[in-house]
Amino acid sequence: METKNWIDGEWTKGKGNTITVKNPSDLSETVGEITLSTVDQASIAADAAHAALTTWKDITGNERGQYLYAMANALEKHHEELATLASKEMGKPFGEMKGEVTRGIQLLRYYASEGVRSDGDVIPSAAKNVLQYTKRAPLGVIALITPWNFPVAIPIWKLAPALICGNTVLWKPAENGSLTAYKLCTIFEEAGLPKGVLNLIIGKGREIGTFLTEKADIKGLSFTGSTSTGLSLAEVCAKRNIKYQTEMGGKNAAVVLNDADLQKSLPPIISGAFRSAGQKCTATSRIIVEEGIYDQFIDALKEEMENVKLGHALEAGSYLGPVASLEQFKKMNRYIALAQKEAEIVYESKDQTTYDGYYIKPLVATGVSSNHALFQEETFGPLAVIIKVKDYDEAIDILNDTDYGLSASIFTNDLHRAHRFLDDAEIGMVRVNQETAGVEYQAPFGGMKQSSSHTREQGQAALDFYSIIKTCAVHYG
Ligand code: ADP
Repeated sequence: METKNWIDGEWTKGKGNTITVKNPSDLSETVGEITLSTVDQASIAADAAHAALTTWKDITGNERGQYLYAMANALEKHHEELATLASKEMGKPFGEMKGEVTRGIQLLRYYASEGVRSDGDVIPSAAKNVLQYTKRAPLGVIALITPWNFPVAIPIWKLAPALICGNTVLWKPAENGSLTAYKLCTIFEEAGLPKGVLNLIIGKGREIGTFLTEKADIKGLSFTGSTSTGLSLAEVCAKRNIKYQTEMGGKNAAVVLNDADLQKSLPPIISGAFRSAGQKCTATSRIIVEEGIYDQFIDALKEEMENVKLGHALEAGSYLGPVASLEQFKKMNRYIALAQKEAEIVYESKDQTTYDGYYIKPLVATGVSSNHALFQEETFGPLAVIIKVKDYDEAIDILNDTDYGLSASIFTNDLHRAHRFLDDAEIGMVRVNQETAGVEYQAPFGGMKQSSSHTREQGQAALDFYSIIKTCAVHYG
C-alpha cells in the first residue's frame, strides 16, 4: 500500500519524501509506504475546504447526518480490514484495534443523529413581540492534527462532530498512523461525501502541521499529541484568534485504599497500565497504594501480571504488543534503564518473542519518591510505578502533585471517600472502581492543568467546540 492525499475528492500523490513502514511486531514485514506532502499541496487542500464550505453548511443537519451514517456503514463493512492494517502499522493488538474501529462507528452514528437534535434556547425578551433565541453556526474550515496511538477513534471523534456542525475539514494524521488514515479515507469515499468536505494531507508535523496552524485560513484547530507541541500550537492560535482545542499528556493514577477489593481492582489497574502497551493518554502510570493493603496488593499484582502476555499484535493471546515505533522503543528503553538503576523492580515480564520488533517487557517498579522523573514524566509505555502512602490525604497530595490532570481512579468500597476523591482530584476525568482509560464516547473527554486546553471532546461538549452560538432576535409586532 502506498498513501495518497485526498484533496477536493481526488487522490493525489504527495510530492515529498517516501517513508517505508515496517510492522513494529515484526520488522521483517513491510506494511506500506507513506508519501509526504508539500506545503503547496496543503494549500490546495485548504482552498478546496473553503470552496466546499458554502454547500456543506447550507444543506440540512439531516442531510449531513445521512452522510455520517453512510460513513459508519462503510466502516462497518471494512471493520476487520482496517483493524488489521492499523495493528500492523502501530502494533496495537488486533482485538483492541477492532474495539477501536467499533468506537469509530459508534461515534459516527452518535454525531449523525445530532443533525436532527433539538438545539438552542428561547430567551424571553424584555420587549414585546420579540422572539429571541440562540442557534449554532459552524466555525468554517477546521484543521485536525491527530496522533498515532488511536489512529481511527481520535480522528473520528474530531471529524464527526466537526462535519455534523457544518464545518469542512483538513486532516493531518501522525506520520505513524498515515497508512491507516489513508485507508480510512478510502472507506469514507464510499459514503459519497461531497468533494472538499473532508481533506486528508499526509505529512510532517513541522511542515504540514505548522502550515495549517500558522498560515492556512482556518477557523478552528483540534490537536491531540504531546504537551510541548500542543502548547506551542495553542500560542499560535491565540495570536491568530483561532478557536483551538489541545488534548495533551497525562500522568494518570490509580489510588488503592485499604478497603479495596483486590480481586476486582487489579484487572482494571493492569489493563489501564498495560493495554496498548501503555500508549494511551489516559494510561495508568502511577499506582498510589495505602499502606494497610500494600503487601497484599504487591503479591496479588505479581500473580495477576503473569497473565499479561507480550506478543505479536496479530496473534491471539497477546495482551500487549510492541511499542509503535523506533522512537518510542528508544525512549522506553531509557526509562526502563532508569527504573533498573534508581528504582526497585516489583515485576518484570519474562516473555520472549521470536520476532524482531519493538518489544518492551512490562515492568512494575517502586522505591522512588513522588518527585522522581518516573513518577512525574509521561513515559507512554508499559511501565507502572507504585508508591506507598500512609493514608487518603497523603494519596491526594501525591495524586495532585503533577503538571498533568487528565484521568484518575480510586479503588475503594468507602462511599464517602469515593465521593471526596471525585471532588479532591484536580483531574478532568475521575472514576471510582474503574480503569483510568476507556471513557465512553457520549461523555466529555478532557483534562485539567497541562493536559488540555480546558475544552472537551466527545459527547455534546464536542458540538460546543465545533460551533459558535448566534443570538437571534426577531421583532414581529
Ligand atoms: P507524539 O509525541 O505523540 O508523536 P506530537 O505532538 O509530536 O506527539 O505529534 C502529534 C501530532 O502533531 C502529529 O500529527 C504530528 O505530526 C503533529 N506535530 C508534531 N509537531 C508539530 C508542529 N510543530 N506543528 C504542528 N503539528 C505538529
